[in-house]
Amino acid sequence: MELITRLQQQLHELEERSLIRRRRTVDTPCAPRLRVDGREMLAFCSNDYLGLASHPAIVAALKEGADLYGAGSGASHLISGHSRAHAELEERLADFVGASLVAPRALYFCTGYMANLAVLTGLAAGDAATEMFSESLNHASLIDGTRLARVKTHIYPHADLDALASLLAASGAQTKIVVTDSVFSMDGDLAPLPALLALCERHGAWLVVDDAHGFGAIGQDGRGALSHFNLHSPHLVYVGTLGKAAGVGGAFVAAHTAVIETLVQKARPYIFTTAAPPAVAHALLASLDIIAGAEGQQRRAHLQALIAQWNAGLQLQHWQAVPSATAIQPVIIGDNADMMAIAAHLYQQGYWVGAIRPPTVPVGTARLRVTLSAGHTTQDVAQLINAVNTLERTRHEPR
Ligand SMILES: *Cc1c(COP(=O)(O)O)cnc(C)c1O
Repeated sequence: MELITRLQQQLHELEERSLIRRRRTVDTPCAPRLRVDGREMLAFCSNDYLGLASHPAIVAALKEGADLYGAGSGASHLISGHSRAHAELEERLADFVGASLVAPRALYFCTGYMANLAVLTGLAAGDAATEMFSESLNHASLIDGTRLARVKTHIYPHADLDALASLLAASGAQTKIVVTDSVFSMDGDLAPLPALLALCERHGAWLVVDDAHGFGAIGQDGRGALSHFNLHSPHLVYVGTLGKAAGVGGAFVAAHTAVIETLVQKARPYIFTTAAPPAVAHALLASLDIIAGAEGQQRRAHLQALIAQWNAGLQLQHWQAVPSATAIQPVIIGDNADMMAIAAHLYQQGYWVGAIRPPTVPVGTARLRVTLSAGHTTQDVAQLINAVNTLERTRHEPR
């Protein structure tokens, strides 16, 4: 029982420091309006940026996929789990983002977490001639990927290209791999990708871009961050996730065909796991049609209008709204307990917003993380703006 006692003590400490995390149970499809633990809520916390997670055409494609391919894949991709739907999806994805790459090919993964582990371990596993350079605000899956890759990894400060340049110049590694999020998930800002890529090319380094929050939402026809900045290079490795703007699930890596073939041969998070249900890949084909078509265009334009509305409408004196051009809109409160009280207050009023604490963000920067979606109406956003503005005023009124 010694272990149980220790675990209970650790959990108690989390509770005391306002760091315990709780799950809420959602009874309805992912959408702005949800029933949560039996209550009707207006939600601003999903990553369903285009409002596609419960889109009728994609739901219909999922059902059709189940009719065509059954419920499960039955095996890993290298055994017998690689279906026609997976193969078609990979071809479509390679076409879609391929203009930024040379000899592009794409590989579908069950999750973005696994895709990131696969890319970093597959490119580097234990190779003494390789070093990685990882941005300090990178997603946990990239951090874990650098650890699992067992190569020397340098962390460079957020968006600090001078610091990265010094590290690259000082490194004698034969292979240098720079790793970054495109849109930072807790701040919503964009990495300076054009300058970053130019720096990588000067030093003969590879650039791995995790576009979890960009794919579908930004770039020409929703092609993501590389398209948004019009980047093109043989040294790019692109990771897009498909459970956020694409509304379904999974992720993909797109890169030079030799990189992808290496992942197929060597990447353990690819090889030693059951392939995602083919119906999911089939549904993703329908999602790609929408993303790349006129409807996707309209949804992205509406999302941009909501982002502008949010930025124009917030009037905060004490809390710090972080300027962001993406769907991720943080409001930094600072203290964990304060932030939890504020999030709870909003929740009581029927607004569900993300409540982000350390270790996800640095200590002292606990924040509300509002995420906007094309599924929201301007009325929804106006209501939340009013609720946040009013709550700040009442909490900071002189008594
Ligand atoms: C969500 C996310 C991931 C993980 O993707 P999943 O498909 O949810 O596993 C990876 N990187 C970033 C930046 C993310 O936001």
